[in-house]
Order: sequence, then C-alpha cells, then structure tokens
Amino acid sequence: MRSVTFEVVAECPHTRARAGLLHTPHGTIETPVFMPVGTQATVKGLTQRDLAEDLDVKILLANTYHLFIRPGHELIQKMGGLHRFMSWPNAILTDSGGFQVFSLSGLRKIHEHGVVFQSHLDGDLHTFTPESTVDVQLAYGSDILMVLDECPEYPVSHEYARESMQRTVRWAREANDHFRRRMETSPTGHALFPIVQGSMFPDLRRECARALLDLDTDGYAIGGLSVGEPRPMSLEMTEATEDVLPRDRPRYDMGVGMPAELPEYVARGIDMMDCVLPSRNARNGYLFTSEGRVIIKHARYRDDERPLDPNCQCYTCQRYSRAYLRHLFQAGEILYAVLATRHNIRRYLDIMRGIRHAIISNSFPDYLKCVRAASSEAV
Ligand SMILES: [Zn+2]
Repeated sequence: MRSVTFEVVAECPHTRARAGLLHTPHGTIETPVFMPVGTQATVKGLTQRDLAEDLDVKILLANTYHLFIRPGHELIQKMGGLHRFMSWPNAILTDSGGFQVFSLSGLRKIHEHGVVFQSHLDGDLHTFTPESTVDVQLAYGSDILMVLDECPEYPVSHEYARESMQRTVRWAREANDHFRRRMETSPTGHALFPIVQGSMFPDLRRECARALLDLDTDGYAIGGLSVGEPRPMSLEMTEATEDVLPRDRPRYDMGVGMPAELPEYVARGIDMMDCVLPSRNARNGYLFTSEGRVIIKHARYRDDERPLDPNCQCYTCQRYSRAYLRHLFQAGEILYAVLATRHNIRRYLDIMRGIRHAIISNSFPDYLKCVRAASSEAV
C-alpha cells in the first residue's frame, strides 16, 4: 500500500509534459508544482497563513541538513514533528542533506557508508549515513523523504562521476531497505525518493536512473543540477534521464530554475521543482513579473505609481506602488522583504498554474512557443 500516489490527468501529445495529482498524507497537490523553499522550517518573510491561505501552497520544502544542525531532529520530534512544530497543515518534502553537506560544510570526508562533515555553524563533526538521514527525516515527519546522495561539484572527470554515481546508487539501496523496514511498523505514511546523479554525463545519468528503477519507489528525483554548469546542460541532463524513469511516477528536478525555464523542464517530463530563486532574489531586490524582471533599486522606479506587476493578483501588487517598494528596499525595511517575497512566490505559482492549464486544455506547445519568444526578446 503506497502512502504517496500519482495520477496523470492529462498529457501533452507533442512534448513530455503532463498534468497530474500527487496524493500525500497531507493533501493532494496539482502538478506540475513549484515548491517554495523553507530552509529553516520557514519561507523567509512569509507566515504559514500567507503560504497556505493567500498563496494556496500545497507543498513546501525544508532542509534536512539545516534543521539537523539546528534545532535538531530530536527536538522537532519531541515538539510533535515538523508539521506541528512549524504549524504547517499541508505536505512537506525534505531534501537529503547531501547537497548542503557537499556545498556548505568546510571539512567533509566521504566513505563507503556515509559522509562525515563539519557543521557550518560551530564546526562540530557529524555523520550522515543512508540509514541515519531516513531516520532524521522520519523524525521530522516529512511526507516525502529523499535518499542521501553524493552531489559532486562541477566539473568532475567521468571517472570520478561514475564512482560517485555508483556510491549514490548503493546508498539509495541501503536507504530504501532501511525505509521499508521502518515503514513496517510506522503508523504514518511517507514516501522515499531516490536521486539520479551522474554529473553532466548523459551515459552515467541513464545508467544511474536504470539502477534506481529496481527500488520501485513512489517517485524519482534528478539531482546534482544548478551546481555551476551552463544552464542548457541542466536541461540536457534532464532530457537524458527522463525517458528511463517510469511514466506513472512523479519526477522531481531539484533546485531549478528561472521563470522561463519552468515550462522547459515540464516539457521534458518534470512534475516537481523547487528553487530558492524567487525568495532569495526577492530579498535582493530582483523581482519577476509577467512583463520581465524589475530591479527595484533602479532610479526609474523612484516615482513609479504603477503596481509591480499589473497582471498579478497578489496582495503586494493590489496594494502598493513600485515607488513604495523601492523606498522600503532603499530604507532596508523588513516589510520590503515580506511584500517582495509574497509577489515572487506568487509569480512562480501563477506560472505553474498557467502551465498546468495549458497542458489540460491541450495548448502547451503554444504556451511554450510564447515563453520562448518572450525570453529571446528579453535577451
Ligand atoms: Zn504580485
């Protein structure tokens, strides 16, 4: 009996895009879906009410590594799990911690059974193993858990990428075995997704995906993208992997992308994405609108009475002018981050809704054509 199931409701006849429903113990999610990132069990600048009620977010992502370092999985479990701790009623996906261990921590040592790493906060040494990261994520109570993977930097040699990919597959088997044992006695439902690695080598990506098929998991992720490679390469790696993965399971591309790239990933068969871009860029003054980007500090917005995005229904665009947002940004006011984040997340969610609608109404190829034409004009 699966706890997380996926239903395809419409498929584009010309691309690999599909619209679906992802059923989780904390609600059903319409796909393709963008998941806002709540690194520290909070999407910076937004309340859970903003997210669940105003923005209608059905699933968000939290970071295993960050919450493990502080406040710790034992405390979160003691407080009733992550949903209760952060007062979040909908689904939660937690990443494996692999990406953070390999990108944030100073010292790290990979061995066959896991990775020893140094906390970026206090320098303490910790170990993640395939089994321990499952236990940590079960302590959080995540609806969707990710397996521990090795996320190699870019570029690496084919030889190293193969060795690393094979380790990721081994870890995925160990994690999956442990997860299944834990599920035999678990009163709550969860899903575990393995992660396809293989750096920027299509042959390794395909080999990895094929090896992970044996695990027969509820979904599959593609990781190791957005690590500094040229952007077209991330799309190429997705394309190389996608047709190996089963069509009846959700596919999740980790850590992508820019607004114009979202439909490109969907066109390549991706159902789930997450990225810190909308929230981080919002705080840095970089806003995504239906008419292109707005860099709010520019002097031209100083006395601009128009809303940030005239086509957006978010609270920020309904209530405030660009001039006011620019003023808040220049003054370093907290409200700026609140309003800007709310808009940027809404923009991403609107794009995903538009994509889903286009797939269901059989007009996705036209939608894609428009996005491509608009982004080549912007360049
Ligand atoms: Zn808006």
